[in-house]
Amino acid sequence: MDKTYDIVVVGAGIAGISAASELARTGLSVAILEMEHQPGYHATGRSAAILAQSYGNAVIRRLTRASEHFFNAPPTGFTDHPLLSPRPIVHVARPDQAQRLRSQFEESNDDGKLLEWLDAGELAHVAPHLKENYAVCGFLNGAASDIDVNALLQGYLRLFRQAGGELHTARAATGLIYDSGRWTIETAKGRLYGNILINAAGAWAAELGKLAGARDMPLTPMRRSAVVIDAPEGLTVSELPMVIDADEEFYIKPEAGKLMASPGDETPSPPCDAAPDEIDIAICIDRIEKAFGLDVRRIDSKWAGLRSFLPDRTPVCGFDPQVPSFFWLAGQGGYGVQTAPAMAWLAAAIVAHQPPPAALNDFRIAAEALSPARIF
Ligand SMILES: Cc1cc2nc3c(=O)[nH]c(=O)nc-3n(C[C@H](O)[C@H](O)[C@H](O)COP(=O)(O)OP(=O)(O)OC[C@H]3O[C@@H](n4cnc5c(N)ncnc54)[C@H](O)[C@@H]3O)c2cc1C
Repeated sequence: MDKTYDIVVVGAGIAGISAASELARTGLSVAILEMEHQPGYHATGRSAAILAQSYGNAVIRRLTRASEHFFNAPPTGFTDHPLLSPRPIVHVARPDQAQRLRSQFEESNDDGKLLEWLDAGELAHVAPHLKENYAVCGFLNGAASDIDVNALLQGYLRLFRQAGGELHTARAATGLIYDSGRWTIETAKGRLYGNILINAAGAWAAELGKLAGARDMPLTPMRRSAVVIDAPEGLTVSELPMVIDADEEFYIKPEAGKLMASPGDETPSPPCDAAPDEIDIAICIDRIEKAFGLDVRRIDSKWAGLRSFLPDRTPVCGFDPQVPSFFWLAGQGGYGVQTAPAMAWLAAAIVAHQPPPAALNDFRIAAEALSPARIF
């Protein structure tokens, strides 16, 4: 290895790859280091693959909106497949949740047009698989989509490689030293050097920060579990909306002719190769059986992944205020796929000491809102 790059990115999830791709395309030499044998092995490869404009806090919603154009019209040569396919989302409330759901609706209906409030009758029409009398109201996001996460990841990688970027898999960054204006990155297979280091290490980002000598980043990886079950006989699932409980106690969506469901768990975890806990799977099945009147006999597959959050549930994107040339790109929580294009543009602009591009300004995304300086 023993080579100096303008930028070394640690982490080949969607955050690292999208930012690396944008940076390589500006003519910088960029390398990505990934400890696993393939990119996207952790959170990125385990997501529910949804783009929901109404999900998350106001900053997340703006980042998602700013990313939509990229998903709908990616650069030439990015992919042969559409990155998005329509998947309406219906948020539903039992009687005890109705008030909370109404507040959510008011808060996340940013332009007053995105979401549609549904009474019980309208809800039964939009989500006919819900058990009768289970929910009393809901709201519809008819503009949400499924994301082809693999096509997104591969598209960014393609452009990255075309621009001369190098992806080094099975190479964990184990030591970081800043000296004479550049980073030395130790790996078991040799050293490499970077003028700027980007920390896109997902659940491991706080640990990587410590290796670099940064202050503790209050990042909490939280486990979220998911299952795939067979569709009930007689129900064609492909056209069904995703259904999310008002308190995110469950969600369920079509997945290649079957149904994918999650209990919406958020269990703090050390960074690891996450696996689902049996109790979370049992809770998931119980909740969806109650809501949909299903009788789940067999679980097709199950998995878990870590969604990493900062206390304000907003990601961090910017240079560390104390450690030189050390850039944080972490804390994407449950929104890292749908916000990746905007986050990558912002990261590339900050690294180049440029103002955020117009595509971000249009959505009033201020770099300060995502800066690590708001935390340290
Ligand atoms: C069940 C579930 C459902 C989700 N649903 C959605 C959804 O519908 N929509 C959405 O937008 N988001 C969703 N998310 C969130 C989304 O998956 C994450 O926000 C996003 O994938 C985070 O990307 P990342 O690149 O930061 O992390 P990761 O994909 O985890 O990548 C970080 C990478 O860094 C590598 N790494 C760490 N330390 C080192 C080191 N020292 N050296 C080298 N490599 C290192 C890791 O191996 C890993 O590959 C979901 C997540 C889960 C778990």
